[in-house]
Amino acid sequence: MKPKAFEYVRADTLAVLLQALAAHDGAKIIAGGQSLVPMMNFRLAQPEVLIDINGIAELNHVTSDGAVIRIGAMTRYRDLLDSACLNARIPLLAAAVRHVGYPAIRNRGTLGGSLVHNDPSAEAGVVLTCLGAELLVVCAGAERRLPLAEFFVTTYLTDIAQNEVLTEIRVPIPPAGAGFAFKEVARRVGDFAIVNVAAQIGSNAQGEVTSLSLALGGVAETPIRADVEGSLLGRLIDMPLAARVAAEVDAMIDPQDDNVARGDYKRHLAGVLVKQALLEAHAGSRAGD
Ligand SMILES: Cc1cc2nc3c(=O)[nH]c(=O)nc-3n(C[C@H](O)[C@H](O)[C@H](O)COP(=O)(O)OP(=O)(O)OC[C@H]3O[C@@H](n4cnc5c(N)ncnc54)[C@H](O)[C@@H]3O)c2cc1C
Repeated sequence: MKPKAFEYVRADTLAVLLQALAAHDGAKIIAGGQSLVPMMNFRLAQPEVLIDINGIAELNHVTSDGAVIRIGAMTRYRDLLDSACLNARIPLLAAAVRHVGYPAIRNRGTLGGSLVHNDPSAEAGVVLTCLGAELLVVCAGAERRLPLAEFFVTTYLTDIAQNEVLTEIRVPIPPAGAGFAFKEVARRVGDFAIVNVAAQIGSNAQGEVTSLSLALGGVAETPIRADVEGSLLGRLIDMPLAARVAAEVDAMIDPQDDNVARGDYKRHLAGVLVKQALLEAHAGSRAGD
């Protein structure tokens, strides 16, 4: 199908974008278009005005700012993979982005677009949940910062108003020596994940866990962070312990059947991937410098 007719506006600065959003009630932002254009073609989205933000240079950056990496919302997956700063400081993010679609999707799709679209198994949402990211959302005359967990409301719904724009994603730099793992199962390479798991683990010279973050996608309406620190801090992770923690996670989730997989299969995948992710992230960790 073809989209309903719409008016096209190109914004080349944030100021022009905010004016355009304020001026048009029925406007929608288009970034990489990799989710919005299919939705328009199926007439699931019918914006009266499409505001193109591809020319806004100030929304496209990856910079290190003290303990945080700041990523502009218009930064494409491809640019994340090419960023030396990101690969050196937050390799878990790059590991996750490698699973997004295939090269054509990664060349156009943006980090901000993925977060606003909020597919529950999108790699970006899961890995940034694990990393504890914070978002900057702006409208004419005001801005607000909020944790990603508060931004995700439910599947395909986020806490952003029609006149607001997501401008930046702020990701805390992990502790030195932290190990990481990103695991997922999809039907085919390039498909959305059925289930995915991100883990980041810090350890001391004895290999005991000193910090831990674990997140899952595809098992609920939004990515979830599994609170399992109590079982792992101060411990060495071996297979029996990883299996006990996977059982704990199993009790926290209630994945539903959908057109790709049954809930019980997702539950099985979650258990397998949590074990793999914990063992791999722990094995890759070393005492901080
Ligand atoms: C064949 C195919 C396979 C794919 N496979 C995967 C996959 O494996 N994993 C995965 O995660 N994704 C996958 N995707 C989706 C892809 O990652 C999209 O790029 C992403 O979901 C949206 O990013 P975008 O920049 O294209 O956003 P757009 O499609 O342009 O916009 C998406 C939504 O976000 C809004 N928006 C965009 N930017 C902003 C902003 N800065 N502020 C406020 N609102 C904004 C738009 O108005 C729209 O509602 C796939 C897509 C296709 C077509």
